[in-house]
Amino acid sequence: MKAHDGMYIGGAWRPAAGRDRIEVVNPADETVIGAVPAGTAEDVDAAVRAARAAFPGWAATAPAERAALIGALRDVLAARKGEIAETITAELGSPLGFAEMVHVGAPLAVASSYAELAASYSFEERLGNSTVLLEPIGVVGAITPWNYPLHQVVAKVAPALAAGCTLVLKPAEDTPLTAQLFAEAVHEAGIPAGVFNLVTGTGPVAGQALAAHEGVDLVSFTGSTAVGRQIGATAGAAIKRVALELGGKSANVILPGADLAKAVSAGVGHVMNNTGQSCNALTRMLVHRDQYEEAVSLAAAAVATYPTGDPTDPATRLGPVINAKQHERVRGYIAKGVEEGARLVAGGAEAPYERGYFVAPTVFADVTPDMTIAQEEIFGPVLSILAYEDEEDALRIANGTVYGLGGAVWAADDETAVAFARRMDTGQVDINGGRFNVLAPFGGYKQSGVGRELGPHGLTEYLQTKSLQF
Ligand code: NAP
Ligand code: MG
Repeated sequence: MKAHDGMYIGGAWRPAAGRDRIEVVNPADETVIGAVPAGTAEDVDAAVRAARAAFPGWAATAPAERAALIGALRDVLAARKGEIAETITAELGSPLGFAEMVHVGAPLAVASSYAELAASYSFEERLGNSTVLLEPIGVVGAITPWNYPLHQVVAKVAPALAAGCTLVLKPAEDTPLTAQLFAEAVHEAGIPAGVFNLVTGTGPVAGQALAAHEGVDLVSFTGSTAVGRQIGATAGAAIKRVALELGGKSANVILPGADLAKAVSAGVGHVMNNTGQSCNALTRMLVHRDQYEEAVSLAAAAVATYPTGDPTDPATRLGPVINAKQHERVRGYIAKGVEEGARLVAGGAEAPYERGYFVAPTVFADVTPDMTIAQEEIFGPVLSILAYEDEEDALRIANGTVYGLGGAVWAADDETAVAFARRMDTGQVDINGGRFNVLAPFGGYKQSGVGRELGPHGLTEYLQTKSLQF
């Protein structure tokens, strides 16, 4: 894989301040596929200065011009689709088909939506004798995780550009090659120098320096709740705006009367996609006591259609998890599930291959709400099936975690499902198999985060208001 030995700052690839490197590992075979510089506070400072210098000019650009440049960026990404998908497969381990369709497809759709929004959004509103101006916040420090290497970047960069903000991105250390390709696309699209800057590096060094930099006006972070809490505290102390997209433990509630086979198979797919490494994965399936054993058998059958293996093999549906640490962590949770008395229906803690960070697709039955596997985010291909007695019990279980990011409800009709969804403490609910929508606000209740991404709600995160009274 091609890697730049530098940081993209002020419209050019510049040498890093330090000499440290981060090796990029292919999680499917544990080989080193490239290396990028590990940024320091000095690199972050140079990038923030570049973003500050570019801010007044970019903020003053007509929204239609920003829209055209976001559209151009989308077109470059689309033209380089194959190369990006291959890079994501190499550094994340995503099956190639999924990489093309979802890892590249979704950010293309998000970029398109912001090209349109930038052109059509009303950056001014009239309220009585006031005109309210919606102005860009300034310089954004964006810190992204590895689970959707391009999508997580575009979900921050596209709205920031649409709003008129400039940015510094610190991508996950596990997936920096996709971020470098993105920076190339920004350059090729003709986005002015300094508007977007990239500093690769580790979280505790480059990430921390970015979150704490006084030249950053908004920190937008996606990742673990533990790091999010720290970033929120740092931003709070500096009275800096912050957006936190954190973990989840989302419930898939199957009410009596729903199409059980469809609900179970979709639910299994939702967890196995991306090897369970989606923040909104529906990792807790809630089934009525009377249908419980039938649902368990259906889930066991569904999971058997997810062969693990080489992500470049078209037959593979389940790639490895991202790294050795997650490999240990996820299998540790499976062992914990067994230890706490859950019934293993498929998979298990044993690694299926000697090489690569593979985890067998795993299903647990007889999971009770207080078990560790029902409470903590596992971030691997592990589904827990819980039984409920009645609707009130289902609601208690669904709402009974510190998280509230995603969710799903299946019922005999949409009305019944919506009535239940209204009572869920969570930011998104799919009704009877509802599909992902790039315009719908994405974000969490409770400890799943602060703020929303995507669509017009995501755009407002990058704006601040000024009122003029007449
Ligand atoms: P993480 O540490 O929270 O990583 C997210 C991003 O934050 C990465 O760019 C990371 O850099 C950076 N970071 C880490 N420590 C930082 C600090 N002190 N200051 C500023 N930035 C910092 O997540 P992870 O370690 O990759 O994964 C651990 C768990 O987080 C997973 O098992 C999963 O439960 C959860 N997770 C959630 C999401 C989500 O979308 N909600 C995504 C990924 C992970 P490095 O790459 O150098 O660590
Ligand atoms: Mg980390």
